[in-house]
This record gives sequence, C-alpha cells and structure tokens, in this order.
Amino acid sequence: MRPASDCAICHSPSIERVPYDNHERKFNTTVLRHHLGAMLHKTGVTSEWLTHRLLFSPTQNIVRCRQCGYGCYERDFSPGELERYYGRRYFLAGGLPEEQWDDFGYVDQHFKTRGQWAFVSPHLDRSSEIRMLDIGAAASRMSRLIKHHLGDRVECAVVEPGEGWTGYYQHHGIRVAGRFFPCPDEQQYDYVHTSHWLEHVERLEPVLQGLRDRTRTGGLCFIEVPNCDATYFARAFPDAPHIHFFTAASLPLAMKQHGFEPVQVAECAMPNPEYFHFRYRTDSLTEDERLTVEKTESSIEQVPGGSLLRGLFRAVA
Ligand SMILES: [Zn+2]
Repeated sequence: MRPASDCAICHSPSIERVPYDNHERKFNTTVLRHHLGAMLHKTGVTSEWLTHRLLFSPTQNIVRCRQCGYGCYERDFSPGELERYYGRRYFLAGGLPEEQWDDFGYVDQHFKTRGQWAFVSPHLDRSSEIRMLDIGAAASRMSRLIKHHLGDRVECAVVEPGEGWTGYYQHHGIRVAGRFFPCPDEQQYDYVHTSHWLEHVERLEPVLQGLRDRTRTGGLCFIEVPNCDATYFARAFPDAPHIHFFTAASLPLAMKQHGFEPVQVAECAMPNPEYFHFRYRTDSLTEDERLTVEKTESSIEQVPGGSLLRGLFRAVA
C-alpha cells in the first residue's frame, strides 16, 4: 500500500500520523517489545503467535484527517491474516455456553442493545415483513430483540466469522449468510444492523459498497462505532483491534458517498473525557463502575463528545 497523502473520505490533504495504541507517543515496555518483535519478524523469525501479536502494533501509525476526523490504521495485512484472527483468536469467536443460549436477560439487560433498539425502532416499518441482516453479529442480540418485539414477521440473517456460534444461530432460527462481508449473498434486506463492526473491516470501500448493495432502496442501515473525536486521539485510548476511526462528520460523509442519506446521527453515552477514566483500565473496574458506564449506553440522548457514535441511514436510489 502506498502511504496515504490525503483523507480517504473527504480527500483533505491535511492529515497527521498518530502512533497506533500510543496516541501520547510514550516510550514504554509495550512499545519496546513491539519494536523488538517487529525486528525479529523482519529477520525471518515468524510464528503464528508473533504474527498475531504484531497485527495491531504501536510501531505503525493511524493516518488521521484534520478536516473530517477520519482515521485509518496504516498497515498492510497479508491475505487471510485478519480472517484467521476474527475466526479463532478474537475474544468473541468462541460463542456462548449452551446453557446461556435461552437467557433473555443476556439480550434485554444489555444496555448498549437497549440504546440501539430505542434509536432504531421508531423508524422500522412495523406493518410489513422485515428482512434483517446483522453483520459481525456475535450473539446477535438485536435479532433476538426484534423477534421478541415484532415476532415472526422478522426474518434474521447474520454475517459472523466466529466459528463458535453455529449451534446458537440454529437454535434461534437465525440464518448464516456468510462469514465475512461482503459475501456471496443475493438477498436484499430491509434493515442492516452493524454494532461495533465497521471499525474492524480491512478495506472500507468495498464494505460500504456492499452495504448499499445488500440494503434495498428505502431500507435502513444502522451503524454504531466508537466516537473517535479529537479527545480520543489526545488521550491514550486503546485502539486495538480497530482499523477505522470515525467521527460524527466522517461517518455520514462516507455513507452519503455510497448511496445513503442520514436519518439520524448522534454522539451518545458518556463524554469521551470522562469515559477515558474508565476505558484505560477496563480490567480493573469495579462492578459499580462498569454499570455506571454501561447505563449511559442505553440512552439515545445526544451527548456532545459522547463515546458512542450511532447513525441510521436510508438507502436512496
Ligand atoms: Zn477527512
């Protein structure tokens, strides 16, 4: 890949490079380990473990646009590298234990899903059948929630790389349309749902084109991603394993360029400056702290600089 000289979305030449997972440009043992690992890798020392550890590395940069705020991890992946990661290594790849498959609390007590439902449901056409596609679905909480509210009028399909979910989908009557998107699938959908997926895709262009191809004209596409505004890049927010970094300006622009018009776009949940105090130490949060953060994710109130970016887009002719 040729180094970028302008923004892939708004084409502004005003770009900067920010070290991946190291926005404050600190030198610490993690960064040192990555540099040593990268040197070993270059000298021909390769193992799946080392390759995997170096997939998302502070030895590489994010190209960030000063105009629209869009950022992109500037790294080439070898064929199949990301597929292997998301199929087996990613923490959600293994699925849910069977005894939890019917636990509806797992769906309706999940604050983020509640917020997504509140955001989307007023715009769904409840008078007819709904064909829904959830991409990067994991447990596809939204499929189950929509079926719960609207019943058998809803037909659900998923795209999910994780190898551990097959039995769960069969159990819930959810069709697997593919493992990676775009996938060979001729179907068009009335509602395409993506929650914390678009920031993980390797190449944005074919994926956005694929979203338009799979959404029927007049249908809706929901996208939720982290809100990577100026605060995000000024603080040491963890990036891995994200490839794309969106803002309230760049996401609608990218969608407009691919045949969608915004129905509503909102920054939600806890403002990034406040959220940072929780996010950088996710592993050591108390239960109360975790709940404090998660509860804000169920709200669809507009919060300037909120940590979540939610957008609902309509496919236009
Ligand atoms: Zn831009």
